[in-house]
Amino acid sequence: MTFQDLNLNTPLYNALDDLGFTTPTPIQEQSFNVVSSGRDVVGIAQTGTGKTFAYMLPILKNLKFSEQDNPRVLVLVPTRELVVQVVEEIEKLSKYINNRVLGVYGGTNINTQKQAIAQGLDILVATPGRLYDLALSRVLQLKSIQKLVIDEVDVMLDLGFRHQLINIFDLLPERRQSIMFSATMTQDVDILINEFFRNPIRVSVAVSGTPLENITQNRYNVPNFYTKVNLLEHLLSHTQTFNKVLIFVAFKRMADRLFDQLDTMFRDEVCVIHSNKTQNYRLRSIEAFGSGEHRILIATDVMARGLDIENVSHVINFDTPDYPENYMHRIGRTGRAERKGESLVFSTEKEQEYLEKIESLMGMKIPVLKLPETVEISIELIEEERTQIKERHNPLKQRDEDAPGLAFHEKKDKNKKTNQGGSYRREMAKKYKKPKTRGDKNANKRRKRR
Ligand code: AMP
Repeated sequence: MTFQDLNLNTPLYNALDDLGFTTPTPIQEQSFNVVSSGRDVVGIAQTGTGKTFAYMLPILKNLKFSEQDNPRVLVLVPTRELVVQVVEEIEKLSKYINNRVLGVYGGTNINTQKQAIAQGLDILVATPGRLYDLALSRVLQLKSIQKLVIDEVDVMLDLGFRHQLINIFDLLPERRQSIMFSATMTQDVDILINEFFRNPIRVSVAVSGTPLENITQNRYNVPNFYTKVNLLEHLLSHTQTFNKVLIFVAFKRMADRLFDQLDTMFRDEVCVIHSNKTQNYRLRSIEAFGSGEHRILIATDVMARGLDIENVSHVINFDTPDYPENYMHRIGRTGRAERKGESLVFSTEKEQEYLEKIESLMGMKIPVLKLPETVEISIELIEEERTQIKERHNPLKQRDEDAPGLAFHEKKDKNKKTNQGGSYRREMAKKYKKPKTRGDKNANKRRKRR
């Protein structure tokens, strides 16, 4: 396929010619028609796959010239660096199009950005926090947004931007197209899709290009967390073989918990990264692991994404990822650059169903290894495991004893009251019908001036 097959227009073809691009990347090929269709879209693709053009080509093709000042396309990204990068990419594509693109992000003077917005624009690229501040200041009007793109949404949620995102959704017109790109699927991303996306079409290229033939994959059936720790300690004690080991866990809390366990036995050999650690701490950990100073790195899916670390001997999936794409990303950290790598995955009984999804995605079975006899089977359970056992295996449990459901009887009126806070304000509001606020002082001033 070439770009000619996508039926673009002359200004876009000329811009692509200048860039020397002739063939769309797989994610561009897959996304073009679905993004053009106006339906909501969820794309799974990593940076470097050409995902920026995957959403911008169809958007730019369909964006008509307009003299109105309010932006019609909003692209949200998690970091300033990405704002700069995405603006550059859009500018490259817009070389022969008469449109106005602006990037805004926190940590810089907001007034300069307000002035730039007041000049009028078509496409706004922003980090969520700064965007929300600008929208609240009323300089930025979001009522004309037709297309919302959220890029690297997994990183955004991992950095704690969920609330800002939801606040922004509230300010956007109901009738709009929402498009998101994420490199990994996490539970948080899934929740966001279910809440705010309408029947999205999914496109994915995460799987292709992973050099499976370089990676030896095996798995262990392990009953619980502490037995997994015992197995891990057993394996890691073979320092010659397991000489550069990347261990994946799904959650930050689990990463810390595992770090505490391993730190006693492998002090000074193990480090950890996840998004609650400071940027400096993360950089130090990555450096120490990359240089070989630390043999073992524990990481969450999202944080390990950008890592380009050479010679990882083993990837160990301490848990079995619920989303098969994440497994592919994880094991892709080893076996790079034609080198051989090894991957192991630990699965409890509950995780067997995830394993099936992974195997069916790869179209192959992962051979199972026997637990070494010296590995002690623990019967101690962590909190999460305890509640599951209670639900599953207690035959004495009365069917609906614990089940949430309707209350047995109606509450008495006096017990129905809930604490609403701010009672004086509510009383006043009731009395005067309208809320007694003076509104935005500056807005009043502006009005007077006119
Ligand atoms: P991205 O995944 O959007 O960060 O893009 C990665 C890089 O690939 C960027 O530098 C793009 O300019 C470049 N790129 C995007 N599309 C193509 C293409 N069709 N052919 C060659 N390079 C591309």
